[in-house]
Amino acid sequence: MKAEFGVRCSGAEPLIYELSKPGRTATTLPALDVPEAELPPPSLLREPDRLDLPEVSELDLVRHYVRLSQLNWAIDIGFYPLGSCTMKYNPKVNEAAARLPGFAYTHPYQDVHTVQGNLMVMHVLQEMLREIGGFAAVTLQPSAGAHGELTGVLMMRAYHLDRGENQRTRIIVPDSAHGTNPATTAMVGLEVVEVPSDERGNIDLEALRAVCDDSVCGLMLTNPNTLGLFEERLAEVMELIHGCGGLVYGDGANFNALMGIARPGELGFDVMHFNLHKTFSTPHGGGGPGAGAVGAVEKLAPFLPGPIVYLSRCEEVGCPRAADPEEAEEEATFFHLVTPLKSIGRVKAFYGNFAILLRAYTYMRMLGAEGLRRVSEMAVLNANYLKSQVRDILPISHDRTHMHEFVAKGIIPEAPDVRALDIAKRLIDYGFHPPTNYFPLIVPEALMIEPTETESKETLDAFAAALRSIREEALTDPAVLHEAPHTAPVRRLDEVRAARQPVLRWQP
Ligand SMILES: *Cc1c(COP(=O)(O)O)cnc(C)c1O
Repeated sequence: MKAEFGVRCSGAEPLIYELSKPGRTATTLPALDVPEAELPPPSLLREPDRLDLPEVSELDLVRHYVRLSQLNWAIDIGFYPLGSCTMKYNPKVNEAAARLPGFAYTHPYQDVHTVQGNLMVMHVLQEMLREIGGFAAVTLQPSAGAHGELTGVLMMRAYHLDRGENQRTRIIVPDSAHGTNPATTAMVGLEVVEVPSDERGNIDLEALRAVCDDSVCGLMLTNPNTLGLFEERLAEVMELIHGCGGLVYGDGANFNALMGIARPGELGFDVMHFNLHKTFSTPHGGGGPGAGAVGAVEKLAPFLPGPIVYLSRCEEVGCPRAADPEEAEEEATFFHLVTPLKSIGRVKAFYGNFAILLRAYTYMRMLGAEGLRRVSEMAVLNANYLKSQVRDILPISHDRTHMHEFVAKGIIPEAPDVRALDIAKRLIDYGFHPPTNYFPLIVPEALMIEPTETESKETLDAFAAALRSIREEALTDPAVLHEAPHTAPVRRLDEVRAARQPVLRWQP
């Protein structure tokens, strides 16, 4: 058995393939009630002529998956302060809503007049996002934050091309940006121009001025930025970029601090994605599904991907079931799908990740406008409270009022060979998911901490106490940190090798 990393854990439990005994089965198929069919010709069949799957009993199978689920960390198990990822609690009512048969059993090929309820959910969600974002229109199509970025930057390019400004091929990205920003730019075929941050953690205005000319397609800006800081000279940044004919893309993944407090569309952002799977509590991690809705101001709205759900009066659009006059009365309005005039086209099949949209809708309706504002207030309060507890344990990067997260440095001067990675791994032994590590890139030994609004003061205090205790260990017994984690199913991994040469398949 070759287990380079991953599934083989304490070493005691056999893997599912090792449990396999010919003839065992975990399924009971119903009796065949259709005529038996011929197999396809042998040339189309796999060699050997069966899938090499483990043969196990139902009990073996159940234990296998339950055991695997217990090896994972989850927000439902404990604190998960993964900065920029907004690992907040996912209320279970969202799951109940997504499982309602009326939603769960609809099919994307159904005629729109049979899915008016689904379209209403999408329309109201669009309207709520429009309202809190300060945008003219919103699409729900993109399936992730990065996908929203791609959509937004494609729209920016389309806007310039539409005006004949073909020379606008450069996108400015601050050095504190999430890696998806330059990646998106490259995918659109535009050139990345990196600008530094100043000593207060803002984008460096002088550096920005130096690159601002008529080759600029736009700026991608995260606000609050990945240091958890609000751009102090945002108005000047906007004036500068718009002044040289560029557009401003908002990376809205960090929207958790702003709801009901500031509208990006009013702050000067032209187009922005929301991470519904961060801010609006739909489950995430492990690769999706997610949703990266995109909002745009008036001048960019015509370029949004379609379809967008609109509510119209039947007399304007003609309702499909209006033959019966009584029904026509009843259905005086009708949700229908519209593709904007200059749309960049679809970015996702059908309606986007509808079940994720439904969860975000439920979350927002449960909280209401007041509740969403309170979420942001509490997220900011929790981050600043936790920072006040961590400040005397680890140095804080750019220690001014933070928004929803802050960045500490895993640097202990009296224990110079202890690194942020050691602290992060040791936190696992204390029962906490580590913070985001070594991002943002501009902070040495970064530990990016985002507590979110859903954590109690007791949890935040316990986390600070763990950090304090780890600091003590660093001074007295640093080996215990270097060898951490000690209690996790797998010990310290060779993360570079795991990323470069992942072993994703069991190999006999
Ligand atoms: C999470 C995140 C993204 C990307 O979102 P995905 O849904 O993971 O693609 C982009 N920018 C920032 C700042 C983020 O935190």
